[in-house]
Amino acid sequence: MKAVRFHEHGGPEVLKYEDAPDPKVQANEVLVRVKACALNHLDIWLRVGVRRWQLPMPRIVGSDISGEVAEVGSLVTRVKPGDRVLLSPGISCGQCEACFKGLDSACRSFTLFGVMVDGGYAEYVKAPEMNVIPIPGDLSFDEAAAVPLVFVTAWHMLFTRAGLKPGEDVLVIGAGSGVGMAAIQICKLVGARVIATAGADWKLRKARELGADEVINHSQQSIAEEVKRFTNKRGVDVVFEHVGPAVWDDCIQSLATYGRLVTCGATTGTEAKLDIRDLYGRQRTILGSFMGGKGELLEALKFIGARRFKAVVDSAFPLKDAAEAQKKMESRDFFGKILLHP
Ligand SMILES: [Zn+2]
Repeated sequence: MKAVRFHEHGGPEVLKYEDAPDPKVQANEVLVRVKACALNHLDIWLRVGVRRWQLPMPRIVGSDISGEVAEVGSLVTRVKPGDRVLLSPGISCGQCEACFKGLDSACRSFTLFGVMVDGGYAEYVKAPEMNVIPIPGDLSFDEAAAVPLVFVTAWHMLFTRAGLKPGEDVLVIGAGSGVGMAAIQICKLVGARVIATAGADWKLRKARELGADEVINHSQQSIAEEVKRFTNKRGVDVVFEHVGPAVWDDCIQSLATYGRLVTCGATTGTEAKLDIRDLYGRQRTILGSFMGGKGELLEALKFIGARRFKAVVDSAFPLKDAAEAQKKMESRDFFGKILLHP
């Protein structure tokens, strides 16, 4: 098959469009003909190299995958060739305490497509049957690929970790990102008020279309000052964060007493300061969040299938132009998901 692989870490130029061996399915696995694969920031981290992860090389990345079942192993019962499916991006053992509790990302063998196993920058990918989900409703392959990782991540952050309740005020950082656009919609589903930030006015207009009540252009305005203005100096109940040091102080200052900050990323660096007196005096909570469980993805998919949530696609590139697609992601000049078509 054709695939985009890298044999060493580096810039976009290490991504090679080339022949790769066809995946061979085990008895409990499904072979999927990839129709669309969405990019995530993770793909770029993996290409550049993350110290914590010793990646098998060559590597095919890509965690958000939709396609058609091409072949099934002898033990597979739930799907058949020709079915339209998407893949739940997180792979876990399915038989440990964490997995049974639905806390897939706490499983000791947890990984994602494109990390320790091959992902979707290819014509075919194999997946455990457990990860294969029929595409809900009349979603297109593009929409189905744009959904899984960002919606499961945002769902886990807002409900499972931050305990979001109706009527609360939520500050959503980076509305133009995949998790940002998912968070806005999830917040509106439960009647929360959303204050969204982005670095360009055209992104803020799109954030409003998705339901954001108030917007802040963080390249021209102070996030903390604007939040004060919108909340009559009270601050927000929840800060939804994934950027890191560039916005950290603003995020902390934007929290109400009893506010919760939940974060799933650190695209601008990994270290931040914290005033401990402020933390206990204002009774605040800081929460880390990583991915989510298949159960949470199935919950979110009900609303996606019913078109209560919109899968926002920015653009699509042919698979061979994966390097161009990643450059676009690095440029930040996009809103929603960037896709590859094998
Ligand atoms: Zn497990």
